[in-house]
Amino acid sequence: MANEPLVIDALINGEKVKTDEQSHRENPANPGEIVGYAPINTREEAIQAIETAADAFPSWAETSLDDRIKRMNRAINKLKDATPEIAQLLSREHGKPLYDSEGEMGVSLMWMEHASNTTKDVLKDDVRERDDGKTIIKNDPIGVVSAITPWNYPISLSTIKIAPALLAGNTIVVKPSPFAPLAVSKVIEIIAEEFPKGAVNLVHGESGVGVELTTHPKVDKIAFTGGTETAKKIMKSAADTIKNMTLELGGNDAAIVLSDFDVEDERAMRRLVIANFLTAGQICMIAKRIYVHRSIYDKFVEKYIEAANKWIRVGDPFNKDVTIGPVNNADQVKYVQGLITDAKSRGARVIQLGQLIDPEMFEKGYYMQPSLVLDAGYKDPIVEEEQFGPTVPILPYDDDDHAISLANDSIYGLTSSVWGEEEHAIQVASRIEAGTTMINTAAVQGLDVRFPFGGVKQSGVGREYGEEGLLSYVATHVINVPKDPELPYIPE
Ligand code: NAD
Repeated sequence: MANEPLVIDALINGEKVKTDEQSHRENPANPGEIVGYAPINTREEAIQAIETAADAFPSWAETSLDDRIKRMNRAINKLKDATPEIAQLLSREHGKPLYDSEGEMGVSLMWMEHASNTTKDVLKDDVRERDDGKTIIKNDPIGVVSAITPWNYPISLSTIKIAPALLAGNTIVVKPSPFAPLAVSKVIEIIAEEFPKGAVNLVHGESGVGVELTTHPKVDKIAFTGGTETAKKIMKSAADTIKNMTLELGGNDAAIVLSDFDVEDERAMRRLVIANFLTAGQICMIAKRIYVHRSIYDKFVEKYIEAANKWIRVGDPFNKDVTIGPVNNADQVKYVQGLITDAKSRGARVIQLGQLIDPEMFEKGYYMQPSLVLDAGYKDPIVEEEQFGPTVPILPYDDDDHAISLANDSIYGLTSSVWGEEEHAIQVASRIEAGTTMINTAAVQGLDVRFPFGGVKQSGVGREYGEEGLLSYVATHVINVPKDPELPYIPE
């Protein structure tokens, strides 16, 4: 596609800000093609964005919920109109197929609408009248939010923060990842147009900007999605000023296939394949290791390979037959290849999956043929680490206790899934350490924006989506009006 490279600017106080330095974003399907340029903001510009958001906060916090919802709904409508164009841009800079980019816009809009529709109910004052007085529980905005987001779902993981932050009366500075900065910036520009100047700000860059967004005293809350190691640095940065935080981090989600799973159920098998390979496996909540009961293991592997070979078609993100595009960047390819090579050196077997639809492109871009890893050790890096790419290990287990201990033997606890007879699956699910466990589905297919999402252990702190996803942008403020206040105990 002969498109001119797009130039994105920072957005501070409603004004586009040009920068001296820019980073370029290449097309992962064709790395010679530059899709666009994003600014590399300076620390000073990050400070300016934070101070602007702080200046805009008091009057925005005073606006009525009706006004905030009206503005949000206007932004949602504009984003709906812009979806085809934004999805195209996202596929070009990210590498995910067009249907997948449209899906990302769809889930972003679904959440924004849900947040907008439920705000009044969730955030209204809770007034409790009693014989001995009255208590009003208010949901006050927190202040300035720093939203720091990753490259894998840049739009949904930004709007998941922007919508509730604004609806709750906060102002925001967003910093997207340099690995997919363009489409999300377009989305933020559209949203910002509907809100007062300074309420929505956008900066780009790496460490210097990141440090300001996580240390500046005028930042009141950090909403971060990204890797666990980055989160550790952010927690340290934020410690001096004790900031409120929501952290959505890495995962190594287990899929447990029970002895009563029907291996002949083709639709269920396809759901599992998709749960492993959608977006080339680059999703926090993708099923990243599969444990199968030993009694059905061989048959399961055979049927899994059949299902994977049918669904997986790797190629040009704009080819409608393609289900998986390239990996987003060269470092990620190297990392995933490294895990596969390491597994082989430890005795694992690697089985290539799917069809290559566009072999010529495959040679050029950051493509990887999806694979299955068999005979890996339970503690091998391919099993223990978050691969975040198109490969998945399948391992056998002996009984439910064994499967549960394998699933829980991880520093992570984001999502998980259990596959088999429903009641049995629910019993097993309730013993897994995770923020979400899905039954007979997994990953994005089982995601529901009406319910809270987040991790336990080193997969995160706090929740997004659902009521909790709105409430994480407010500070509970109790106004207590006792009728006859007395100390409960008065010494003689
Ligand atoms: P990353 O941690 O490398 O980067 C995330 C963001 O943090 C980027 O915008 C980056 O520029 C910024 N950043 C880097 N260093 C920083 C610092 N010192 N201070 C402040 N900001 C800094 O993550 P990534 O590679 O973009 O994303 C992949 C990771 O994100 C995976 O581990 C994945 O599991 C995780 N993830 C989690 C969820 C979830 O909801 N739990 C969702 C998507 C992705």
